Amino acid sequence: MKKEKPSVGLEKMTRRGFFSRVAVGIAVLTCPSYVFSEAELYVDKSFMSPENDKRRNRDLTDLIILHTSEGNFNGIYDVKEKGSAHYFIDDRGGVHQVIDDDKVAHHAGTSMWEGRTKLNDSSIGIEMQGSHKKDITAEQYRSLRNLLSKLKRKYGIKDERILTHSMVSYGEPNRWHPKPHRYRKCAMLLASPKSRKKMGLGEGPGYDPDVRAGRLVVAEPGLEKVLYGSKSPKEPEQILSPTDEIKVNTRREDKEIESLRRYLIRTKMFKDYEIGRLEGDKRTPYSHAGKNWKSPSTYYMIGKRLHKASEIDPRKLPLGTIVLYKAK
Ligand SMILES: [Zn+2]
Repeated sequence: MKKEKPSVGLEKMTRRGFFSRVAVGIAVLTCPSYVFSEAELYVDKSFMSPENDKRRNRDLTDLIILHTSEGNFNGIYDVKEKGSAHYFIDDRGGVHQVIDDDKVAHHAGTSMWEGRTKLNDSSIGIEMQGSHKKDITAEQYRSLRNLLSKLKRKYGIKDERILTHSMVSYGEPNRWHPKPHRYRKCAMLLASPKSRKKMGLGEGPGYDPDVRAGRLVVAEPGLEKVLYGSKSPKEPEQILSPTDEIKVNTRREDKEIESLRRYLIRTKMFKDYEIGRLEGDKRTPYSHAGKNWKSPSTYYMIGKRLHKASEIDPRKLPLGTIVLYKAK
């Protein structure tokens, strides 16, 4: 997140227009079919940071973190001056390198992912010209997709390790939040499945590993939904992970429910939910959830997969299905 510089220099804007045209020109020259593909990704190096020479190399690169600049093109001068990203992609799709790929850029601030902090030491930062509350342009998506594809291959980074600043940044305890906490940061919209698809990426991490593990709390209601959608938990197989301490010596079915119940309590997911199973004389969703049997808040776990009531036909569920419904 960068503060916008107050002055808008005409000369600077013209210069940027020039680079966009050069990029298009090169792509057209080298690509007779006029199709932009990864091979034609043009990276402008005229905004390299004066900090670049002072920065050391990273030992590890296994994350890519996306940012939004919260301003217009002039934001690039701030990024350049501070060396606060590896790349800046302007709203016409121009890709500008600011810090060399292998060197440390100061973009992630106070950050944590899977318990690891100081993420500048293990990540590439890409700044998108734009705002956290507005989608980036089609040209930006196209350039970002090409750049990500190149970086993913270069460093062997998996899709679920391409994150947004909002996902990884956190705040230390303060007057309002007594615990280390996640809070709103830039590039929130880029976490959505729709955005990820436009970037050529598969599914994201699906949940916040640090919140789930209790290392952080979520300071802002609704933030998780923006970042991870309403589908979490995405990995229901974890519900029955072998690390769950199950000492209840009963039938397997009861163990499952007991384990699930503990899991839900531990992760604070599905707060105020009841759990039931389609069996015996309670074989219908209605017999458990009552009038909530097809409510959007009700979930059905078939095998180890969790489905929203709206995604399936709750009238055709196999026996043994687990029903998660809001307590009345
Ligand atoms: Zn940011």
